[in-house]
Amino acid sequence: MAVGIQKIGIIGAGQMGTGIARVCALAGLDVVLADVSEDRLKAAIDLVDVSLQRRVADGDLPESERKSAVARIHSTIDFAGFAACDLVLEAATENEAVKRGIFERLCPALKPEALIGTNTSSISITRLASATDRPEKFIGIHFMNPVPRMQLVELIRGIATEEATFETAKAFIDRLGKTSTVSEDFPAFIVNRILLPMINEAIYTLYEGVGNVEAIDTAMRLGANHPMGPLQLADFIGLDTCLSVMQVLHEGLADSKYRPCPLLVKYVEAGWLGRKTHRGFYDYRGGSPVPTR
Ligand code: NAD
Repeated sequence: MAVGIQKIGIIGAGQMGTGIARVCALAGLDVVLADVSEDRLKAAIDLVDVSLQRRVADGDLPESERKSAVARIHSTIDFAGFAACDLVLEAATENEAVKRGIFERLCPALKPEALIGTNTSSISITRLASATDRPEKFIGIHFMNPVPRMQLVELIRGIATEEATFETAKAFIDRLGKTSTVSEDFPAFIVNRILLPMINEAIYTLYEGVGNVEAIDTAMRLGANHPMGPLQLADFIGLDTCLSVMQVLHEGLADSKYRPCPLLVKYVEAGWLGRKTHRGFYDYRGGSPVPTR
């Protein structure tokens, strides 16, 4: 039988974990947010608070709701803080070894009936589930970036995921006011299977000198009516995440059409990961973004 989620744990207080914490707290759920350091957690909760203060200033949210939402988010660096959670959603760095290590530490801290979700953009749900003690209670719950603005959440069952787990995850997404779609457990699921090869192709277009950053982004914004250019979007997603997704597609589907562009590899090697490190295909350190090529 499906159970309702009242208390959610979130692992990883980066751009996704912070956004998920914000929407869950606003929907009235108790949130326990974890990361590797107190500093990151404080920065994440401050970010939620500032973004909600902006909504209050815009007349979009009552001050009392901002206050209670922020008060519902608790932080921890110790997984023992997840003991009372009904669901723990992993939203840490897109790296299989990191995620497997997290699940091994997490399972002993959970109550037996707790569900585990992962926000992975690309990695096999079945394989990640095998690093837990409860593959039947494990599911992919893939939010989009930025979480507060994007309507879609992809739900991905692993081979062992029970129907009750799926129904509970679906009810959780409904409660957040978002729309879920179902994807089978293939590399990068639906959205990123289509989106990331386009971004990778835009980077090849840059690498081969077909156009510069500005020309490529303007072409796709005005020529294909995309709200953001593909290189701007890559910076927004994070170039490390883009590279990881392409590697999973390349290895998982064994097709050379998914080969990550060497220029993407070079940016990641330089630590130019996009907006989160203030430099990627654009340099964000000044007043307005300046193309780096
Ligand atoms: P991010 O780099 O902004 O944040 C990752 C966070 O995980 C960091 O704060 C890091 O300190 C933390 N972390 C790393 N190891 C940890 C550990 N062992 N324990 C606890 N915390 C740990 O990354 P992000 O963009 O928020 O992505 C997180 C996940 O969400 C990834 O799986 C990514 O593929 C997925 N995702 C990203 C996007 C996007 O557009 N960026 C969209 C959908 C899904």
